[in-house]
Order: sequence, then structure tokens, then C-alpha cells
Amino acid sequence: MIRKTIVDRRHDNRPRVGLGQRLSLTEHRLCHCSEITVTQRNRIRDARVLNRGHPSSAVSDVNCDELKVCHAGDCSRTGILAAMTATDTATLIDGRALASKVKETLAARIEELRNEGRSVRLDVVLADENPAGSVYARNQAKMCEELGIEYRLHAVVSDAEFDVIASTIQRLNQDDRVTAIMVQLPLPDGVDTHRIQSLIAVEKDVEGVNPANIGGVLYGRRALAPCTALATMRLIESTGIELAGAEVVCVGASTIVGRPVAALLMEAEATVVSTNIHTHDLASHTRRADVVISAAGVPGLLTGEMIRPGAIIIDVGINRITDPETGKTRTVGDIDVESVLPVAGYLSPVPGGVGPMTVAMLLRNTVAAADEVPG
Ligand code: NAD
Repeated sequence: MIRKTIVDRRHDNRPRVGLGQRLSLTEHRLCHCSEITVTQRNRIRDARVLNRGHPSSAVSDVNCDELKVCHAGDCSRTGILAAMTATDTATLIDGRALASKVKETLAARIEELRNEGRSVRLDVVLADENPAGSVYARNQAKMCEELGIEYRLHAVVSDAEFDVIASTIQRLNQDDRVTAIMVQLPLPDGVDTHRIQSLIAVEKDVEGVNPANIGGVLYGRRALAPCTALATMRLIESTGIELAGAEVVCVGASTIVGRPVAALLMEAEATVVSTNIHTHDLASHTRRADVVISAAGVPGLLTGEMIRPGAIIIDVGINRITDPETGKTRTVGDIDVESVLPVAGYLSPVPGGVGPMTVAMLLRNTVAAADEVPG
């Protein structure tokens, strides 16, 4: 669905400057424009600049804020014709494909470590026999096997008390063969999750839930940062956006997603706004943003009219909803996809976005933890 369009930073998503109309100029870089499409960088599908007397060159890094055009005769420099096309729908960020690439790199590193006589191992503590946890554990085991990571499941009794879980973790902390530990949530009723997570050895804490690792994130260290926050950063970075100076709104401020991702973005020198359920007029913030990350767990929270044209939207939410007509359930995120797609530049969808990348980041942390162990 390619069309020629001009999109600017106004919020109504209507072209502000039509084809052939004059744009305000501060620098004459592209002249003699018989036909031109100006759009935000992340909506451009195809861009060409034809220099008279020079071979045509592809433009791979065009940003409408920097692209200056004028009509023939208006310029001091002449002989350049520019033409670009853009789409009228957001590019979907393919979390599965990006995660596969990460896994390929990890598999190569695991092989190298194995050749050095070092193994990569993930030990998982499962203390609640809910069906979801068991399915998750089986999937983890399969994935680890595919990559050459040793996987050990430590299922403690389903109504285990704090001391039983704590002693399992302490045993794993002390075992030199164990390089990575994760505790599957939820824990049985009455067991303090935070206290349990604080017991995991910092260097083996591959979910980044020990306060020391969360603290590391505040100091700009990505090593063993929480996996979903890392995944969100990877997806944003995959668009090629320059984060320094970009305005980013985090919707949701939980300790596992919203807050660590805000800290990682601050480290990247973005201008970060953290919002939560008490935020007045959420749209007034999201409409300004170059990037919106939604981790609220509210289906349909963000609609097209709440975002800036061309913005990058990362949907972290996971919500099960039931179709009132068919009675079937399905998983959706926080984004109203139908209204957001025509406005956004990029959208990380649910499913297929943050989810698979979060798993890839768990594996990445698992390999990183083993890598730190001296050979
Ligand atoms: P949480 O309940 O701990 O936190 C939710 C946050 O959203 C809070 O800060 C709350 O104030 C804010 N919020 C809620 N309603 C809001 C509203 N209307 N406007 C603005 N802010 C609002 O949740 P969490 O653990 O951070 O998870 C959030 C969502 O992300 C859930 O849907 C969860 O399933 C999903 N999640 C996905 C992954 C993944 O790997 N894809 C990982 C973790 C969480």
C-alpha cells in the first residue's frame, strides 16, 4: 500500500504540505524538485535523490526535519531532483525474527564456550504447580536444548514455605556448576517474592530481579538487566532511531518493566516521561512522543489519536480478552491496533513483538552470566 504523502508533526495526521508546495527552507540541499514526498524517516519506504551529472543515489537516512526542499529556481544550488515514497501504515517490528537473530549469535558463543570447556546452564526453581508455570518450564527446556544450554528444573512442593525455596536457592548459589538461576513466578501464597528474589546470587540472577542488578541498571549497566526492559530497548533500537534527544513516554511504571526501561532510556540520553494510572491527560504526553512504550495491562489504552504521526510504539501489554460473539479468547496488548496502524511509524505488536524478544533476552543473560565465570 504505497502512496505519496507528506506527513508532518501535527497531530491530526493530515498532510500539511502538498506535493509541489513550497516548504520553509533553512538550507538548500535538494533543489529542482519536480516531485517530492516528505515524510518522517520511519515512514519512508523508498527514497531517491537524482543528482544531475551524478549517478542517482539511494537515500537511506532521511529525516524530514533535516530534509530541505524548494522549487526550481528558488535555490542557489541546482541540479538535484528528489523523489520519495512512503507507506500509509506502520511498519510492524518483527520480534520473532529479531529474537531468532539474537539466538543465532548466542548459539555461536555457546559453541565457543563449550570448546573452551565451559558450559552454559540455567537452573529454574518452580514453586507453584500451576499449569501455566509447567508449560512455561517445558518451553524453556526445549529452547535451552536447541541452543545447547543445559537446563535443570527444581520443582519444590507446591505449598512450599519461604525456607524451602530459600534453601534451594542458596544451594544453587553455592554450586559452581550453576551459572544462571531463575525463580518462576508466581510463588505460593504468603511467600514474599521480593525477599526470595533478593537471595539469588547477583552474578547468576539472569532475570535481573535482585535489587543489586536493578541498581546496576540505574548506573547504566545492561548486564543482567530485567529481560522485558532489555527486549523493549532492542526493539526500539531496531528501528534505527537516535535515542539521544528523543522524547519517550513510558506508560506504566512497574519495577519489572516501566521503571527499568525508563532508566535504560535515560542512559541513552532520551527525554523520558514516566506515566502511571494517576497521570492526568495521558494523551497530552503520548502525543508529543517520538516513542511510546505501553506496559499498563489495559487493552485498547492507546488509540491513534493519542500518538504522534510516525511515532514508534512498543506494546508490552499482555491481556486475555474474550470475544463477546464467539466466546473465544485471544491475547492482545494495550494498543488499539486498528486506529494506531495508520498513524504510527513502527509498531511492535502483540503477539510477536516484546514476548519473543523477552525470551531471547533471558537466554542472552544466561549466556552472559556463564561468560563471566572465569575459564
Ligand atoms: P503492573 O500491574 O505491575 O504495572 C502496571 C503499571 O501500569 C502501573 O504503573 C500502573 O500505574 C500503570 N497503569 C495502569 N493503568 C494505567 C492507565 N490507564 N494509564 C496509565 N498507566 C496505567 O504490571 P507489569 O507487571 O508492569 O505488566 C504490565 C503489562 O505488561 C501486563 O499486561 C503484563 O502482562 C505485561 N508484561 C509483558 C511482558 C512480556 O514479556 N511481554 C513482561 C512483563 C509484563
